[in-house]
Amino acid sequence: MDFTSYIKNIDPEIADFIEKELKRQQENLLMIASENYADEAILQATGSILTNKYAEGYPGKRFYQGTEYYDKIEEIAIERAKKLFGADHANVQPTSGSQANQAVYLSCLNPGDILLGMDLSAGGHLTHGSSASSSGKIYKAYYYGVDPQTYLIDYEKVRQIAKEIRPKIIVCGASAYPRQIDFRKFKEIADEVGAFLLADIAHYAGLIAAGIYDSPVPYSDFVTTTTHKTLKGPRSGLILCKEQHSKKINSAVFPGIQGGPLMHVIAAKAICFKKAMSEEFKKYQIQVLKNARTLADALIKLGYKVLTGGTDCHLILIDLRDNNITGKDAAIALEKAGIVVNKNAVPFDTQSPFITSGIRIGTPAVTARGLKENEMLLIAEWLDAVLKNINNETIINDINKKVKNLCSEYPVYT
Ligand SMILES: *Cc1c(COP(=O)(O)O)cnc(C)c1O
Repeated sequence: MDFTSYIKNIDPEIADFIEKELKRQQENLLMIASENYADEAILQATGSILTNKYAEGYPGKRFYQGTEYYDKIEEIAIERAKKLFGADHANVQPTSGSQANQAVYLSCLNPGDILLGMDLSAGGHLTHGSSASSSGKIYKAYYYGVDPQTYLIDYEKVRQIAKEIRPKIIVCGASAYPRQIDFRKFKEIADEVGAFLLADIAHYAGLIAAGIYDSPVPYSDFVTTTTHKTLKGPRSGLILCKEQHSKKINSAVFPGIQGGPLMHVIAAKAICFKKAMSEEFKKYQIQVLKNARTLADALIKLGYKVLTGGTDCHLILIDLRDNNITGKDAAIALEKAGIVVNKNAVPFDTQSPFITSGIRIGTPAVTARGLKENEMLLIAEWLDAVLKNINNETIINDINKKVKNLCSEYPVYT
């Protein structure tokens, strides 16, 4: 596929970096759990002439003339999102997962209201009340975590905290939690204390769309997601909600926090939702899960501490404290070998968030290029070889050759 022919003429410097990045994406095993390869059709839509126009407002209620086709595109995106997740209402305008969450808070909270979210260090997201994020600055945030023995969410503890602090909203969903979240239980707790429930499925959306991870839609006032992680769409966000919240959500997104919607990205989201309804997508998600489980089992056999002993989704978390390697050093060595993961705090981590004691590994992108269980076994062996020899260049270079060979057998963007 041609990504740079026009750019080259105007700006060879940027074109060169795009070409180099393309090569990086082709020749490495991308195993950052939040990343994926968007299909060519998605890339084409995001690069289209739909970027040219303002369409502030919503279909049928725009502030600018000339939005006939934009209305159609946005209506299709909305209908597909509703159908895909079985939701009453969809707002397809948020430009990211963070903005989707910001809009939900704006729609139902006042500054200083109490929010209960999952602790960042236990796997939650910055936008779930972290003091570094607007969600923790504007609202009064409290946190729940995981059980120190099982690393699972302790729902009794969540209930206890909720009863004590009486939050106006409870946020569930995570960026680094490998197990099924019990959304029904969160709903019970939210009802007991009269709180709204927001489920942030940024990581799990693709698996939920495919029906292999329980959906929070029946239980939640609001559901937010990104569209570029397991959903495999463009870099963007989405809000689903119950009918009674639809007006407030729409006005929180526009004019609450955004101006003109990125209509080229909304078109790409429409395509993403169409693809997510296909049999092929379901098969892909099933393979994503199989691959993550195979990798987890193989790493456990090799002696690694895989948190919770496995996974119910596309990601696994490894605690490297027993191996005497920090998350940072592990991630750097693995990247040299062509296996790209991210360092990740483990619950009750004693290292700083910039060093960490763990790594997070995801299978969405490698599964998208066609890798299956056998290749996961190879990757587990290579991970082990690198982590046991993080200062041995010969071994790391040798693994890198093997990684490149494997990648050339499963090409992307040809
Ligand atoms: C990735 C993520 C987000 C934020 O998405 P951005 O598009 O990067 O803003 C929000 N919530 C969770 C749980 C995430 O994992």
